[in-house]
Amino acid sequence: MARYTEATCRLCRREGMKLFLKGDRCYTDKCAFARRSYAPGQHGASKKKISNYGQQLREKQKAKRIYGILEGQFRKYYERAERTRGITGENLLMLLELRLDNVVYRLGYGASRNEARQLVTHGHFLVNGHRVDIPSYKVSVNDVITVCDNSKSTEKFKTFAENPKPLPKWLTVNAESFSGTVVALPAREDIDVPVNETLIVELYSK
Ligand code: SF4
Repeated sequence: MARYTEATCRLCRREGMKLFLKGDRCYTDKCAFARRSYAPGQHGASKKKISNYGQQLREKQKAKRIYGILEGQFRKYYERAERTRGITGENLLMLLELRLDNVVYRLGYGASRNEARQLVTHGHFLVNGHRVDIPSYKVSVNDVITVCDNSKSTEKFKTFAENPKPLPKWLTVNAESFSGTVVALPAREDIDVPVNETLIVELYSK
C-alpha cells in the first residue's frame, strides 16, 4: 500500500493553494503556504507562463494530492470512471469520494484525509459490521460505517464526536452510535474539492 511520504507542505506550495493536508496545522500561522506562497525550489518564486498541458497536469496532481493517491492507482480510478456510465470527470471524483478513508474524513473522524487513512489502517472502523482496514475500500449506498467498540471510549474518538464537521448531503451521521450511513452517491455539487476534473479528462484522453 504505497503512499507519499515526503514533505507534505511542498505539495501545497507546488499547487499554489492550501490543500489542507495536515489537519489543524493548516489553520494556524505555522502553515508553510501562508508563510511562503510560492513553489518550492531555487526558481520557485519566479513567475512562469503555464501551457495547456501544464494546467492539465497540475489539476491531475492536485486531485492526487488531495486524496493521497499515487499515479498508478489514480489512473486505475480514471479507467474505472471511463467505463462507468455518465460524465467521466464527475465519475472520477465520485469514485475518489467513495474511498473509505475519505468517507471517514467526511464523517468527521480525522482532521485530515491522512489522519483518517491512518485510523482506517489501524482497524478502528467497521463497514456493515465487518472490520475493514483498507483505505481504498469503496463504500456503496446504504453502507453503515461504525467506529469499533474498543475505540468509542478513547479520548480521540470522543473529541471527534463532540466536534462535528459539516456533513455532505450524501452522508448521515449518528453521533450516539458513532456511525455514519452513505445515503446517496455524491453528486458533483456535493464535492467541494478545488479541482477542474475536465482538465484531468483532457490530459488522459491524449
Ligand atoms: Fe498545506 Fe496544511 Fe502545510 Fe499549509 S500546513 S502548506 S495547508 S499541508
